[in-house]
Amino acid sequence: MSKMSIVLPAYNEEGNILLVYETLKNLLDSHHIQFELVFINDGSKDNTWNEIKKIKDSRCIGINFSRNFGKEAAIHAGLQNATGDCVVVMDSDLQHSPSTLIEMHELWLSGYDIVEGIKNSRGNESIVHKLLVKTFYKVISKFTHFNLANSSDYKLLDRQVVNELNQLKEKNRFFRALSFWVGYKQTTVNYDVQERISGHSKWSFRALFQYAINNITSFSTAPLQIITLFGCIYLLFAFFLGSYVLIKYLAGNSLEGFTTVILLTLIIGSTLMISLGIIGIYIGKIYDEIKGRPNYIIQERTNNHEMDN
Ligand code: UDP
Ligand code: MG
Repeated sequence: MSKMSIVLPAYNEEGNILLVYETLKNLLDSHHIQFELVFINDGSKDNTWNEIKKIKDSRCIGINFSRNFGKEAAIHAGLQNATGDCVVVMDSDLQHSPSTLIEMHELWLSGYDIVEGIKNSRGNESIVHKLLVKTFYKVISKFTHFNLANSSDYKLLDRQVVNELNQLKEKNRFFRALSFWVGYKQTTVNYDVQERISGHSKWSFRALFQYAINNITSFSTAPLQIITLFGCIYLLFAFFLGSYVLIKYLAGNSLEGFTTVILLTLIIGSTLMISLGIIGIYIGKIYDEIKGRPNYIIQERTNNHEMDN
């Protein structure tokens, strides 16, 4: 019989862990699905790790990071340690509706390699938040050519896909897009985002902004092309304006226009600085990759299965 692994990244989820365990266990047992739960404590500041250790079930693995490495790193660790024939990545706050697991499992049995959870609605986020997120997905979908609108990290992957993802060497991982990038036979299921039962969302605007910049630059070099395009437009502009000034000069008219000079200096100065910033981000990424540090450090684990980072 096939086994389903569920990867559960957890950061400050002390109030949810046992509930998640009970809910998933009851659900999967009642559908006779053999499973394994992989909890990753991503350097929580609360009692999450103790809660994970309280679960006495040989079907559960607990992994404790030495500090907070972020959700992408936690997903990475989960995928590397899961042993199931299919692996689902799921939030450990029960916002990813558990009953959808059954639907995903059925689609997997019917031959799909990747089943992607698509949000029907975005839950009760503020309008500004929703707008920003929407813009981010518009931009990233355009740059990466993957349709990421309403996508989430709630996904089922076949063992073969997981093996492929585990072989990738890159440090900057954007799971949501990587699972498109690998290809394979994909399908989607829709689910309603549930309310958080305990704790609160870890996303601040700053974190979201960083997430956006990081993932866009991880998946696309379009920003570099855009600044090159800007350079070309300036060159064209410079050519015409320059010719105009020269002709005026030769005709004996000196050009007035202190305001124009200041405006041009400001515009060009700021565009140059932004361009340098964009190039800087990419250099930073090269630096990160080249250092070759691991994505995460495991300090402790329960129910030692095998493998390590
Ligand atoms: N999470 C994590 N590391 C982090 C931040 C979040 O492992 O640094 C986990 C968190 O415990 C949860 C999931 O990622 O299981 C989604 O986080 P959250 O609920 O805060 O995001 P939202 O649902 O609001 O998008
Ligand atoms: Mg959540």
